[in-house]
Amino acid sequence: MFNVATGLSIWCSEAMTLALLLFMAWRQNTSNKAYLYWGLGFLLSGSGFALVALRGEIPDILSIDAGNAIALLGQSAWIAGFMALDRRKIEWWALLPPAIWLAGVYLPWVYDDYGNRVILYNLASATGATGLALAVCFPGARVERTRHKLAAVFIIQACLCFAGAVTIAVSGASDMQAINYGGAVAMASAFLLTMAFALTCRMIMDRSERHLRTLSLTDSLTGVWNRRGLFAHFDALQQRALAAERQIAVLLFDLDHFKRINDRFGHQAGDAVLSAFARTARQFVPNKVFGRMGGEEFAAFAMVSDQTEAEALAESIRAEFCRLPITTPEAIVPATVSIGIAISSAADANMDRLISAADRALYAAKAAGRNCSVVFGAEEAAAPPSAETDKNAGELVPTVDDQVDALRRIGAFARAG
Ligand code: GH3
Ligand code: MG
Ligand code: MG
Repeated sequence: MFNVATGLSIWCSEAMTLALLLFMAWRQNTSNKAYLYWGLGFLLSGSGFALVALRGEIPDILSIDAGNAIALLGQSAWIAGFMALDRRKIEWWALLPPAIWLAGVYLPWVYDDYGNRVILYNLASATGATGLALAVCFPGARVERTRHKLAAVFIIQACLCFAGAVTIAVSGASDMQAINYGGAVAMASAFLLTMAFALTCRMIMDRSERHLRTLSLTDSLTGVWNRRGLFAHFDALQQRALAAERQIAVLLFDLDHFKRINDRFGHQAGDAVLSAFARTARQFVPNKVFGRMGGEEFAAFAMVSDQTEAEALAESIRAEFCRLPITTPEAIVPATVSIGIAISSAADANMDRLISAADRALYAAKAAGRNCSVVFGAEEAAAPPSAETDKNAGELVPTVDDQVDALRRIGAFARAG
């Protein structure tokens, strides 16, 4: 026969150990409340079952009423933990497991009947396990294999508790049989919970690994990709461009007279200009394939139909940045950007060659007076760089203002004619 007291004692000590570990983990990073809730969950589950195990030694109100409610409140805390892990609001339904217990236990045919109490507990626990599965796999949750496995473990636990309740109800089990069924379900639940704990650790480790990888590919000041992060996107973009029979454009950006900005307004103002530029440019670049190459230089990769589309992209960014007021507590900082563009067919695109060509185009843009864009078409971009950089190479892109002026002149001619 199953010894309930021994099983409960094992679970209590396991739960307390896990609670301690989780509280210690929470102290390392108090901003994430998930560990706190999970630690609380194990503490509540362990103490609840300890009270249940003391039945006969302590008053029934502590052992039966409170003990089971506290153990079920542990499930509520675990549900809250999974919600906190995904930085979601904690929902009211997390409290359903103890609420179901408290709503049913005072019915006379439940309170006075051991079998019915076990049925009620298992139904509440099945609800809690379903809640855990829903908290892990909610609509819009990130698709992760471990997450699905975790939800599956909770669903199995819910089915197990439900099956235990139904078996006792349908078979008209005696108290002794109810103890055995209830005990077996409790032990299987404890085993599944330990499995769930291991899977949760795995999910958190995967997540922090992903976070570290993203950090290593992100520029800390501006939040856009760093050089490595940006370069990692080239191959995928080339494949997409090949499939869509489109061209690839590389745009290199260099803020104008940035040293002067630093000297005149201070390094912090310089940093604010860098962030403002990154924010502005990123919103124009499709799929955010935009990053900081270093210092005050940025780059973007884009799939374009023709040279005009690449020029339009560069000109939109240049014009928007030029008119953007960048304010610091002391001053409004004027800033502009020069842009070098190189284009190639997707089949011939070579990242290093395109960047080198865009760099030469950028040099020409600086030589043309800054705050403008110069484009190298496919032929110029494919040509090997000459020993001496030609500052007249490439084609100067007409600025938006030039284009508006030209349209006005055409309009004036038309009216005069
Ligand atoms: P040009 O128009 O020819 O590009 O001139 P420039 O002054 O922008 O170019 P230069 O290469 O002479 O100066 C770049 C400056 O960018 C020098 C460096 O101190 C500054 N810089 C590099 N990284 C940072 C940064 O993270 N923050 C700030 N505030 N300044 C930076
Ligand atoms: Mg520079
Ligand atoms: Mg510069």
